[in-house]
Amino acid sequence: MMNYNKITLVFPEKEEKLFLENYFNESIIQVRVSFVLVSFLYGIFGFLDTLMFPEYASVFHLIRYVFVLPVLFMVIIISYTKIFRKIWQEAIVISTLVGGGGIIIMILLVPDNYAYYAGMMLIFFAAYFILKLRFLRATIACWAILIIYNIAALFYEHSPVNVIVNTNFFFISANIIGMFAAYSLEYYTRRNFFLNQELKKEKLHIVDINKNLEKTVKERTNEMFLAKERAEESDRLKSAFLANMSHEIRTPMNGILGFSELLKNPKLSSDKQKKYIDIIEKSGVRMLNTLNEIIDISKIEAGLMKLDLGETNIHEQIEYIYSFFKPEMKAKGIKFNMKNSLPKEESIIIADSEKTYAILTNLVKNAIKYTEKGNIDIGYYKKGDFLEFFVKDTGIGIPADRQNAIFERFIQADITDIMARQGAGLGLSISKAYIEMLGGKIWLESEDGIGSTFRFSLPYIARKERNAIPENNAENKTDSGVKQEISGLKILITEDDFVSVKLLKIAVNAIAEEVIIAGSGLEAVEICRNNPDIDLILMDIRMPELNGYEATKEIRKFNKKVIIIAQTAFGLSGDREKSIA
Ligand code: ADP
Repeated sequence: MMNYNKITLVFPEKEEKLFLENYFNESIIQVRVSFVLVSFLYGIFGFLDTLMFPEYASVFHLIRYVFVLPVLFMVIIISYTKIFRKIWQEAIVISTLVGGGGIIIMILLVPDNYAYYAGMMLIFFAAYFILKLRFLRATIACWAILIIYNIAALFYEHSPVNVIVNTNFFFISANIIGMFAAYSLEYYTRRNFFLNQELKKEKLHIVDINKNLEKTVKERTNEMFLAKERAEESDRLKSAFLANMSHEIRTPMNGILGFSELLKNPKLSSDKQKKYIDIIEKSGVRMLNTLNEIIDISKIEAGLMKLDLGETNIHEQIEYIYSFFKPEMKAKGIKFNMKNSLPKEESIIIADSEKTYAILTNLVKNAIKYTEKGNIDIGYYKKGDFLEFFVKDTGIGIPADRQNAIFERFIQADITDIMARQGAGLGLSISKAYIEMLGGKIWLESEDGIGSTFRFSLPYIARKERNAIPENNAENKTDSGVKQEISGLKILITEDDFVSVKLLKIAVNAIAEEVIIAGSGLEAVEICRNNPDIDLILMDIRMPELNGYEATKEIRKFNKKVIIIAQTAFGLSGDREKSIA
């Protein structure tokens, strides 16, 4: 909406200033041209004077050439100076008054001739239409001329009253028409200006929008580029990971198959036999490790890994790990130290004991793997609201530029990694994921060639009743061979895999009097129904038809006493809890 004064057409202050400046700039040439034109016309009409009124010619020429034209020329000259910008409208008003004044004198001297009335009309037209006078000034100038004419005519006795009245009719009409025309001229000039301003604003706005758009496009392109890079990197890593994984599975597999083949030789010495079996066993353990890690990382990636919070006896876990790995270190010539800094009682926290155990074991295993001599320290202490653990070694260390990468999934799979030894490269990423799930952090200090210290924190959440006996803690129960005098049992083995059946049969041999085999869940339920005196069931979980869970439910319907032990090759964390439930 254009904001302006309806009578004077003036804009609000700031805009008005801009408009006036603009109006001057756009008008100046026309002002000069119209002044030249008007001067020419004013001059040439001198010829008319001589032709029509020789007796007044000298007076009229005096008016034209001595008074009016010099004023007009003056304005043209001043229009080339700086002050014109400030006084141009006033200068034009004065020129109009002077020009008009000249004509008034001529009319008064020869009131009966129409020519000078027409001349006055021309003055009005010039003022309203071509001199670029603003509407209000033109109006004032022309009405002033009209008033002066009337006053002069009244006092000058030559003028007949009817002529004055007649003349006024025309002059007033001309002025009214001129006023309207000038008003609308100025109105449209201003409107033009206003629309131009709006257009400029819009343009700026559009330029702004464009700039923003460019920025956004640039940002998005960058993001896309990064995402693409990431996707490619992740693709590359996953391929490398797969290659490494297949290597990690194939190598122990080759060991198992190769040495099994060698074992077939009947002439093998018992020493060699033992050695080969040892290799087969180690290969199996290694493969199982890799598979477990793959399953764990898959679960983590899929967001399926759950926390199983309970009382976790850190002290005992550390002690257990210490005694478990001590022989291996001793064999390698490494000293193993343990620093348990909290009293046993205070080292029981609420955490996921399976996971803390896995984390610690993994760090110690790595330390052993990457340390040839010196010592390995394991321990923990309380720091604020956290327990801080450390596993310190004097091994090969980790160069600074790899210290972040080793926690990344699949990174170790980067085959170019010369530090990589046997291992899937998943241990640390699994540990990191566990620690973060538990609300802690993992970091390390390491110097190439000197050693590494892995540290991690876990929130110190003390258990509530101090005397509760930590039971649900698989790690605490060392199967240190508490020989119980059990024998003569009737045992049902539910298992569909031939090799596993064989293995289990041998395992229970010592305590069994009778062993029954069931190949499926359905069969197991049936056998139980017919043999209420079965003492123990080894229940495979994954089976066709009826799986272990369902079969157990069925059996429990009619036999609440029989001991059922779940067993599975899949051993996902969570299966244990589900089985107990
Ligand atoms: P891996 O199964 O290969 O051990 P990890 O995720 O446990 O996988 O470790 C990743 C990498 O971090 C290893 O390949 C090794 O380069 C480096 N690393 C881990 N622990 C140590 C350590 N104690 N000393 C030196 N390097 C280590």
